[in-house]
Amino acid sequence: MRQPLVAGNWKMNGTRESAQLLIKGIINGMAGVTRAEVVVCPPFVYLELVGAALQGTQIPLGAQNVSKEEMGAFTGEIAAPMLKDVGCQYVIVGHSERRTLYGEGDQLVAEKYARARKEGLTPILCVGELLEEREAGTTEEVVARQLDAVIDLAGVASLAESVVAYEPVWAIGTGRTATPQQAQDVHAFIRQRIAAQSKEAAEQVRILYGGSVNAKNAAELLRMPDIDGGLIGGASLKAADFLTICQAAN
Ligand code: PEP
Repeated sequence: MRQPLVAGNWKMNGTRESAQLLIKGIINGMAGVTRAEVVVCPPFVYLELVGAALQGTQIPLGAQNVSKEEMGAFTGEIAAPMLKDVGCQYVIVGHSERRTLYGEGDQLVAEKYARARKEGLTPILCVGELLEEREAGTTEEVVARQLDAVIDLAGVASLAESVVAYEPVWAIGTGRTATPQQAQDVHAFIRQRIAAQSKEAAEQVRILYGGSVNAKNAAELLRMPDIDGGLIGGASLKAADFLTICQAAN
C-alpha cells in the first residue's frame, strides 16, 4: 500500500515572517493527518527557518531545485549536499516552470534527479505536457520522453524510492484543473510504462497530481486509483486550504 503524499511548493513567495506563520499554521493543523505524508518546499533562503520549525514533527523538508553538479564553481547554484546539510529530504526536479522558463531539458532534469538520489535526497520528478501538446494528442509521447530520460540515466529501480508528479502545464497556476479521469489516465499510463520494465517499481512509486489542486477539488482527484497524492502550488500558501488537501489525502 503506497502512503499518500502531499507536497507544498511555495515557489518564490513569502518573507521570513510569512514563512514562519505559514509553517506554524500547518503544524498546528496536522493533528488528524496520521496516514498521509506531508512535505513542504519553501524557497532556498527559508529552508533553515522552516526546518527549525519542523523539528520534532513528522513533516519532511523539501527544496524546489538542485544543481546537477556535486559542488564547486557554479555561481548561484545550490548543491545536493547543501540541501542535505540544512535538513532537506526531498527535492523537486524538472518543475515545468524550470523547464519552460529556464530551459531545463530532459537530460539536465535526469542529471539533477540522479544527483539528488546519489546524495540521498528523494526526487519529486515533475512531468507533463503543454496545452498544444495535449491538443495535438501527444500527451503520452511527451510524458514518456520525460520519464524515459530519467530511467535511461538512473535506472528504473530508482523510481521505487522516488516520486513522480504529473503536472499538465496548462493546469499549473491557471485555475484550470485536469478532470479526475484525465489525470487518472496519464497516471495509469506512467505506472504502466514503469511496469513494463519493473513491476516492483511501478507498484511502489508514488505518483502525485499537480495543477490547480485546491481545497474544493482535491478529494475527487485523490480518490482516483493511481493518484497517490498532490503537488500543490497556490493552495499550499494558505494553511487552511493546504490542510484541507492533506486531510483529503489522508
Ligand atoms: C505547482 O507549481 O507544482 C503547481 C501545481 O501549482 P498550482 O497548484 O498553483 O497549479
